[in-house]
Amino acid sequence: MRSSRSCRPRRSRADVARLAIATHNAHKVDEIWAILAPLVPGLTREDVASAKELDAPSPVEDGVSFAGNALIKARALAASTGLPAIADDSGIAVDVMGGAPGIFSALWSGRHGADRENLELLLAQMADIPDEHRSAEFVCAAVLVTPDGREFTQVANLRGELLRAPAGEGGFGYDPIFQAHGESVSNAQISAERKNEISHRGKAFRALAPIVAQVLGD
Ligand code: IMP
Repeated sequence: MRSSRSCRPRRSRADVARLAIATHNAHKVDEIWAILAPLVPGLTREDVASAKELDAPSPVEDGVSFAGNALIKARALAASTGLPAIADDSGIAVDVMGGAPGIFSALWSGRHGADRENLELLLAQMADIPDEHRSAEFVCAAVLVTPDGREFTQVANLRGELLRAPAGEGGFGYDPIFQAHGESVSNAQISAERKNEISHRGKAFRALAPIVAQVLGD
């Protein structure tokens, strides 16, 4: 005979979650939760769930700015789950290229998420540019949208220089060819903790955290 315990329906992530995160990447949920947790009283890992765990559809990201794309993702997720929803959008902006790759960072070489090809194309485009004109920044827009339509946006950056060749194995995306101001190695050579401290994403989410705390406390 089955015990009454095993007959009890399992509670799904959608039943227990208090905050939805617009990503299909479990690693990104962990990372965002780790930034928010110390700043949002009582926020447990169980409280946050990804769009994938919540079975939410992905909208078309046809915004023309980092904040615009982040808002598109968070609005869609808040509407489909009925939960306050967080999203971010980020990329690298090179000064001499007028802010490109910008919102096209993830697909700069033509294939979405092809990190190595993206980085190599950018290095080739910048090959003749002298050191004094290689300044660039990572940018992140972090947003919170509530099901009743309140919207909060925080944008932060990390300024630095483009290197001439990839250095280091850590990080992702353009990290191996970017050296932040004040650091002596590339973003792919600093620890994850240090990157969180200085990064565009860390700064944007830390700025958003008090608002998340207030919304969840309402
Ligand atoms: P998304 O915000 O997940 O759409 O990422 C945009 C793209 O920007 C990524 O695929 C990376 O190429 C790049 N990017 C954003 N943040 C970083 C970073 O911290 N390091 C390296 N590349 C990044």
